[in-house]
Amino acid sequence: THVVAEPCFGCKYTDCVVVCPVECFYEGEQILYIHPDECIDCEACVPECPVEAIFHEDNVPEEWEGFTALNAEMASQC
Ligand code: SF4
Repeated sequence: THVVAEPCFGCKYTDCVVVCPVECFYEGEQILYIHPDECIDCEACVPECPVEAIFHEDNVPEEWEGFTALNAEMASQC
């Protein structure tokens, strides 16, 4: 799955959401989340993100490691 990390906070663009073929983005109050069971790892969203906030789960920078669990938790509540 892919994961939305810290740089997404406050970003107002939703270019990533528009290109996702399976509509697996969910909107939090200030950040988007990706549902891990729905993401097909197509990577279409990655180059669309203007703040480079989207990573494959294997490549999430160490300081944002917690976002993998946060995406899963928050997306499943939506
Ligand atoms: Fe959607 Fe593809 Fe991005 Fe996963 S990698 S969130 S399926 S656009």
